[in-house]
Amino acid sequence: MDCLFCSIIAGETPSTEVLSTEVAYAFRDINPKAPTHVLVVPREHITDAAALDPSHAAVLSGVFSAAQEVAALEGLGERGYRLVFNVGEDSGNSVPHLHLHVLGGRRLSWPPG
Ligand code: 5GP
Ligand code: ZN
Repeated sequence: MDCLFCSIIAGETPSTEVLSTEVAYAFRDINPKAPTHVLVVPREHITDAAALDPSHAAVLSGVFSAAQEVAALEGLGERGYRLVFNVGEDSGNSVPHLHLHVLGGRRLSWPPG
């Protein structure tokens, strides 16, 4: 399958690793929108959050555990951070492999633009 994030997980496309677990891989976004901008992706190829169903429960739990660990590693625990899944065109979703954005390190505007 021709998928950018599957290629990153496989190590065929370089990335800057933040965390690697059995279920998920976390790496720095190539075009960061905040001082900390990490993408947490499941090793399993899932297109997006709209494709999730109860069979993905363990994978999703692993993705959120990884995101919590990333936040701790990046020192975001005290000031807080934002977790985002983009779905579809209006959200600007550009890579069709589920990814959780972990954003922090500055005051984040709400609502997002
Ligand atoms: P989306 O807009 O689909 O929610 O998020 C995709 C994210 O992937 C974007 O923030 C974009 O900067 C990031 N991205 C796209 N291509 C690459 C890449 O080759 N390497 C890394 N590390 N991030 C990428
Ligand atoms: Zn993929």
